Amino acid sequence: MTTTLATIDDFRRHGHTLLGHCGNPLCGRCRSLDLDALADRYGADYSIIGEKRIRAALVCSACGHRGGSITIQTPAR
Ligand SMILES: [Zn+2]
Repeated sequence: MTTTLATIDDFRRHGHTLLGHCGNPLCGRCRSLDLDALADRYGADYSIIGEKRIRAALVCSACGHRGGSITIQTPAR
């Protein structure tokens, strides 16, 4: 069985975490993103797959770089 995860709510319900990575190659810091806050801001039906707004809005807390990438972390068992 294949489960398709696409929206913020899908990831939240399945216990997945999104990691935001700093776009500055000299920094490379990453942190987990708050899915509840993202759902409030973009809507729970907002699709993570191929999205650009969240990536563009990432601001690194370490170096202040704006923009980065997102990876999906599956829940630990
Ligand atoms: Zn950084």
